[in-house]
Amino acid sequence: MTEQARQLTAEVISIGDEMTSGARLDTNAQWLARRLGELGIKVSFHTTVADTLQQNVDVFRIAAERVDIVVSTGGLGPTRDDLTREALSALVDQPLQLDPEALQHIAEMFVRRKRDMPERNQVQAMFPMGSQQIFNPQGTAPGIDMVVPRKGTGNSRAFALPGVPAEMKRMFDETVAPRILEAKGPGTAIRQHVMKFFGTGESDMENRLGPMIARDREPRVGITVSTATISLRITATGKDAQECQRQIEATRAEIMERVPEFYFGEGDHYEQYDAINEDLIAREQSLMVVEYGRAAPLGDWFAKLGDTPAYKGGLSLANPQQLQDMFGGETEQQALKIIKQKCELDWILVINSYPELQRDASLPQPASEITFTVLTADEQVLTRTESLGGHPDVLQPRIAKAGMAWLRTALAGKSGKSQSHNQ
Ligand code: ATP
Ligand code: MG
Repeated sequence: MTEQARQLTAEVISIGDEMTSGARLDTNAQWLARRLGELGIKVSFHTTVADTLQQNVDVFRIAAERVDIVVSTGGLGPTRDDLTREALSALVDQPLQLDPEALQHIAEMFVRRKRDMPERNQVQAMFPMGSQQIFNPQGTAPGIDMVVPRKGTGNSRAFALPGVPAEMKRMFDETVAPRILEAKGPGTAIRQHVMKFFGTGESDMENRLGPMIARDREPRVGITVSTATISLRITATGKDAQECQRQIEATRAEIMERVPEFYFGEGDHYEQYDAINEDLIAREQSLMVVEYGRAAPLGDWFAKLGDTPAYKGGLSLANPQQLQDMFGGETEQQALKIIKQKCELDWILVINSYPELQRDASLPQPASEITFTVLTADEQVLTRTESLGGHPDVLQPRIAKAGMAWLRTALAGKSGKSQSHNQ
């Protein structure tokens, strides 16, 4: 079997006392393993190791012997307990060399942050002779990309990334993934595309997608869930960008056929409030949100949109009675209508209660009935009641997301008589 026909294997190494001691959960390994899987690489080992030089050298040596690709995170900082570059240098028996360009980039990062560069940071511009750098646009520590000769046949390739999750993710996607694909075969391009969904659970999504999420499918479709929002990541590889794009389009169309009703947009960081904002801007209409209870996540999320004509602010009140009192005893509906008129709003979304959570609550909260009310641009009042419970960390955001989903349904004119009624 040739090197290229064989499936490449990988090991993920997480470096740091904070992980081995249990002070911090290793989330980098999970993220990297998923990504490597999406690239068609079989991850055979996860290793976690403390900040001790000899142990780091041992771990890298063992990994390089048993897999084709080693990806490590952590230990690239400037402090004495950051030992990854020394470990790699010892592993291949090549001295560390200063790279003037890397040093300049690090110095510029400090200028931008208006801080003096400590002497110690210079080590972050040192690389084992013969290695390549992995550019870090966000932080001071570049990564290291190094060929590790194997005793038996061929070489292994080690990629060392910083521990800071945001930095390592970007460096992996921008530099490491393309280099891995290049190594898999000449002229291989890779493109990724993310589609976002809300309104169903992960297992229902998996059922509906069926064979689309098989691990050997090309392009690969990966599924992740974050507070009830589902992301489908399509990873296409082909001979060039256009071929990848064609594959992504075809897969995208197939996904849309299977789960059209839960889809709301595209892109890793795209959220329902972005979809609502774009929709309202296109209509030249505006929205206010009213949140009752002990939380107001929608207000915070819509604020992230910055200066948009579509969002006219939010009200956070303990209960509807407060609103009625402010409006001299009008009914809640009447008070909302007055606000809508006076503030020249087209839409109001009301979430009737965020349940009070115990400060140290850690058990799933019992479901309670939450009512979402939308006052529409054409003076309808559409309500929907859902029974929502769940883990205290995610319950409030889930409620807010379900509220946005109802608003999107109303915006799309799909609120249907069965679910809605005038009150
Ligand atoms: P830096 O330049 O920031 O010092 P570094 O490569 O030395 O980068 P570390 O000091 O090991 O990285 O870690 C930086 C931060 O990233 C710390 O807050 C650490 O807890 C976190 N971190 C490190 N490894 C992981 C991991 N595997 N999973 C989650 N967080 C991690
Ligand atoms: Mg460290």
